[in-house]
Amino acid sequence: MNKSVQPNDLSAVIEADRAHLWHHLLQHKTLETKDPKIIVEGKGMRVWDQTGKEHLDAVSGGVWTVNVGYGRERIADAVREQLVKMNYFAQSAGSIPGSQFAEMLLAKMPGMSRVYYVNSGSEANEKAFKMVRQIAHKRYGGKKHKILYRERDYHGSTIACISAGGQPERNLQYGPYTPGFVEVPHCLEYRAQWDCENYGERAADAIEEVILREGPDTVGALCLEPVTAGGGVIVPPAGYWERVQEICAKYDILLHIDEVVCGMGRTGTWFGYQHYGIKPDFVTMAKGVASGYAAIACLVTTEKVFDLFKSDAEDPLDYFRDISTFGGCTAGPAAAIENMKILEEENLLANTEAMGARMMGNLHALMEKHAVIGDVRGKGLFCGAELVADRATKAPAAEKMVQAVVADCMAQGVIIGATNRSFTGFNNTLCFSPALIATPDDIDQITDAVDGALGRVFG
Ligand code: PMP
Repeated sequence: MNKSVQPNDLSAVIEADRAHLWHHLLQHKTLETKDPKIIVEGKGMRVWDQTGKEHLDAVSGGVWTVNVGYGRERIADAVREQLVKMNYFAQSAGSIPGSQFAEMLLAKMPGMSRVYYVNSGSEANEKAFKMVRQIAHKRYGGKKHKILYRERDYHGSTIACISAGGQPERNLQYGPYTPGFVEVPHCLEYRAQWDCENYGERAADAIEEVILREGPDTVGALCLEPVTAGGGVIVPPAGYWERVQEICAKYDILLHIDEVVCGMGRTGTWFGYQHYGIKPDFVTMAKGVASGYAAIACLVTTEKVFDLFKSDAEDPLDYFRDISTFGGCTAGPAAAIENMKILEEENLLANTEAMGARMMGNLHALMEKHAVIGDVRGKGLFCGAELVADRATKAPAAEKMVQAVVADCMAQGVIIGATNRSFTGFNNTLCFSPALIATPDDIDQITDAVDGALGRVFG
């Protein structure tokens, strides 16, 4: 239902937006002919914009974040209570919610042992990169310093993170990059790079080839998303992860799993890596940790990694000499505790699995109807539909057509996403990642909107 808004108040907000804001990921020229979109209110799966229009949010705040949905008073209450008691102290000291959330979190991550609090996914990944580099210095005379990342994966926006970023469309014009990051091939079978039977194993073997080319004694870590998000919703094929794990063990390479998107239930398990029996050395997480109610991200390590930084030596350089000022904000863990309780009490992992299956079923049905859908991929409530101009050649659908589908859905009151604008043929995947509270009706409303949009845009 549309809400009534106070146009007088909001026109001042729009004016201030136009005059002062620099929006993320936006070509500001586009605002010369239209108003910026301002999201004024949210409840459950739905948000209302400045015109009072209601939208069903199929992308959890645009970027896979608001896992438990909008308007959760109990999270706001817990944060308020914590803030008036103790809002901040640097994390060289601890905090009550910091310890409590770490304990709750690690209970969901057997084999993992230590939590390092920061503010963003990029920062969590940077901290892991720094640890890998320091381990290389402490144990291997600086040699095992290279960090492998995968084509199409994304690990954040800082210079080191884009140096570890496999989406050239995000990186171009920001060089020179940080040295010591090396790319390995992607594993998307739909756009196969090898003609073979066991594609998962073959794609993992390609990682080993890079390790051998670079020299195993120079490679310290491998950083991967369990399911690639913005790079095209890429679910690794069977056999991939088992082989990756073997390769890391064989060459003594630390495995860093980037759960910034997949973490906190998005794929139907607490963490994406848990589908595959992976034993990581580092896990980074951000978006769903507090569903956007507070800025919190975590780097989680094993005790083995932690122990490498503990010593009796007199050497003043022998510990992890790093800080994140706002890693000491208690609003983050206070919100994260309630967020996790909601996921458990409302059984949202099971809901994610069930609603994810429904979404995949609906998308497969759309694929029967619309030849423009070349492939459908997903895990839990993290789904994508790749649009192609021609199913036989798999030539990607034109970017402006993909954007027209997104705009058509928006006009229908359903916010969907599309993977990044790319010149490599991966910009053409529609993304669906609704909050984990989605109902069957919500899922059907999303796919019905896509059905209508595809019919209108592609005729
Ligand atoms: N890793 C992945 C997989 C991501 O998708 C993102 C953000 N989209 C990041 C890291 C970076 O997170 P942040 O924007 O919080 O720095």
